[in-house]
Amino acid sequence: MLTATRELPVRPDTQPQLAIALIVAGIVFLASFFGILTRPVGFLAAVWPANAILLGMMVRNPSYATPLGWLAAFVGYIVADLSTGGNFFVTLWLTTANITGALTGYLLFRLVPESDRWLQRPSSVLHLFAICCAVALAASIAGGGAARLLFGKDFFSGITFWFITELVNSLIILPVLLTFPGFRRLREHWPAGLSPALFQHALPALVLVASVGLAIMLGGPGALAMPIPALLWCSLTYKTFTTSVLTMLLSVWLLISIPANLIPLPELPDPLRSLDSLRLGIALMALCPLTVASINAARVELIERLSRAANHDSLTGALSRGAFIERSEACLQANRDQGTALLMLDIDHFKNINDRFGHAGGDAMLKEFVVLISRLLRPADLFGRMGGEEFAVVLPGLDMIAATSVAERIRQALEMRAIEMPSGGEVWATVSIGVATRAPGEYTDFDDMMLAADRALYEAKEAGRNMVRVGARQPEATSPTLN
Ligand code: GH3
Ligand code: MG
Ligand code: MG
Repeated sequence: MLTATRELPVRPDTQPQLAIALIVAGIVFLASFFGILTRPVGFLAAVWPANAILLGMMVRNPSYATPLGWLAAFVGYIVADLSTGGNFFVTLWLTTANITGALTGYLLFRLVPESDRWLQRPSSVLHLFAICCAVALAASIAGGGAARLLFGKDFFSGITFWFITELVNSLIILPVLLTFPGFRRLREHWPAGLSPALFQHALPALVLVASVGLAIMLGGPGALAMPIPALLWCSLTYKTFTTSVLTMLLSVWLLISIPANLIPLPELPDPLRSLDSLRLGIALMALCPLTVASINAARVELIERLSRAANHDSLTGALSRGAFIERSEACLQANRDQGTALLMLDIDHFKNINDRFGHAGGDAMLKEFVVLISRLLRPADLFGRMGGEEFAVVLPGLDMIAATSVAERIRQALEMRAIEMPSGGEVWATVSIGVATRAPGEYTDFDDMMLAADRALYEAKEAGRNMVRVGARQPEATSPTLN
């Protein structure tokens, strides 16, 4: 990927920079406009997604975070506020505070390791929380004073309101932006149609909806926590992005429904302070499913890495001997009604390559060999390293003629390929291949097939190497060799 990107012709700098500036300004404008529209008359907006969206955008695309990108964000905020009748001096103040928060968050995110940024590590959510607190503090200190100028509220209430709003918005919105896998990956994982499997997969989300219904029915202060078990189930089932979206939807719904009295709560003593406390509580509750999801993501990745290390040869990436035999036996069993072929491959005079170019030269040859052969195989074929310079391939569904022609293609591909040596120079190698096949419906042990293919390989070596030979125990044993 990296090499390919470097080889791309460099486009003139001005056009993408201008395009980036327009994107940043446009997104900030739309998000601010949304915040202004939902702002209650006489105070700062409680739903203000623009800062979290700007921060998420900059963290995901560091190439946007240029002076021009930040300037574009500044313009986006100002235009949105002025176009809805804001006072220029106050607008300038509020915008400076918004940018201060986002810039603080951007600089702090650069200090955490890459995988932590995308919420894929156990400590990711703690880092996210600490950064969101710093963002909220920076923005509220920079902008809290404007509340006095705007609405005659004291500095402390201005700071408190701003801090809570900023923290709630960023804790709810940022995880979605940071874990978004991109539209292409999303489309790949999108379900093709309704099926029982889809229903089963959607069950945790359906239970979440049901538990929200239960919270509405039962009411009371405990209602807020009723969706938590279902949300935890979701975070153990879905990817971090899906969990972040569900958590965001639930939090937004709670934030809207509580002031609207959709969930019957007991009479609150100091309504304004209690509402602040509730908003904060809802946002902090969102940290639980996110923590579970990120620990789960780390666990899944670790299992995948371990299973890859256990089942693949570390030098070439081909299947290790044990995994190859296990999967081949399963493949033989699953394809009982079809023909199946096995190729045993052994690089000729490999010892000479080691002697001439050192062990590193031999290793380079093995790696190149695997890349070359893998390109000639189908996704369902199995390719394993049996040890040293010996490899094996299982070709499900192929009869003797088709398998021999695949073997011949492999032999020719290696013969024609010059392989570069790390110490300099090129080397041409050849391979000998033994083929064994099992006819449809015939019962053959995989061990028997390996023996037959091994014997055919030995014949190819005996006959002069760089050849394909078919196993003698098969009915097709008399078929002519191709070389
Ligand atoms: P033939 O044509 O009869 O197959 O001869 P050959 O030289 O290929 O076979 P031989 O079995 O005599 O030699 C295999 C060599 O492969 C010996 C061993 O040192 C080397 N070898 C085994 N594993 C590795 C490895 O992982 N890396 C490298 N560089 N060499 C290896
Ligand atoms: Mg050899
Ligand atoms: Mg050998």
